[in-house]
Amino acid sequence: MDTTEMQPVIRVTEAGLYCAAGDFYIDPWRKVARAVTTHAHSDHARPGCGAYLCPEEGRAVLAARVGAKAVIDTLPYGERKRLGAAVVSLHPAGHILGSAQVRVETDAGVWVVSGDYNNSTSTPACTTFEAVRCDVFITESTFGLPIYRWPDPGAVFAEIHDWWAANRAAGITSILPAYPLGKSQRLLAGLDAAEGPIAVHGNVKTFLPIYEAAGIRLAPTVPLTEKTAPEIRGKGLVITSSAAHETGIIRKLGPVSHAFASGWMQTRAARRSRDGDRGFVMSDHADWPGLLAAVEATGACRIGVTHGELESFSRYLRERSYDAFPVPTRFTGEGTDAETETGK
Ligand SMILES: [Zn+2]
Ligand SMILES: [Zn+2]
Repeated sequence: MDTTEMQPVIRVTEAGLYCAAGDFYIDPWRKVARAVTTHAHSDHARPGCGAYLCPEEGRAVLAARVGAKAVIDTLPYGERKRLGAAVVSLHPAGHILGSAQVRVETDAGVWVVSGDYNNSTSTPACTTFEAVRCDVFITESTFGLPIYRWPDPGAVFAEIHDWWAANRAAGITSILPAYPLGKSQRLLAGLDAAEGPIAVHGNVKTFLPIYEAAGIRLAPTVPLTEKTAPEIRGKGLVITSSAAHETGIIRKLGPVSHAFASGWMQTRAARRSRDGDRGFVMSDHADWPGLLAAVEATGACRIGVTHGELESFSRYLRERSYDAFPVPTRFTGEGTDAETETGK
């Protein structure tokens, strides 16, 4: 789909957001010659592109996603690189390790594509979001409704530790499904292993060494196996990818309590519709006040809204005198991508 009013700096094409001046795509949906990649979640980083550009902090996670043989160029956050007639720089998005907002400057002005970002809650698991001034800001809107307001992460971790302690007291094993990239490390950066053993299951362990190599302190874990199950049973907390949720090894853990840690847990409807026993409100995305603060901090008057609540959030912004327009994506929101379902 061609959105002519978005020209000339970045426009929507069949393959995704395209910058003609620099001849590159941002988070393309198809295999293209040059991709600038905001982060390594599967709905943003597709394998098979000719070359990728990402922040230095994101190189290892991107390589794990798109393949070790992929051509990956990197930039330190904030450093500028000329691509054709465009100047590109990458700025922290606060979402997962190595996530970036992409700033693109041409003679026609400065545009910023946010990717997924979190400016609402702090986490030691990645570099903190930085606002970037621009003329046009293309923002995600996963949680672009006023109901979404994240509680203090410290209070949420206290709730998780209380749930875990109550389970331990009753001889119940605690199960916390989490997306293997981002949410798992966010949890492990805040959990206290002195409370009890923490195990990881499924492909949760995939990205842990990369985070640790980046200097992020994570609670020590053991893989959940036949051998470790007896020491986890009745007192441990298991972080599991949702795909591995109900495999045989989980049945060796005795009675279990499931919980979810996600932004979707903000609504009662979401809490009821899940089979989890508990819901904790924790997201790696901006909440409603965060989205509004990010938009305001850019100083931009033109706002493209993508990845979530396109219509309602752009309508809200237009009512507040922004020139806001929806930017269609192949993905209607994180929740539609099965792999990311519990991760946000
Ligand atoms: Zn993401
Ligand atoms: Zn996303």
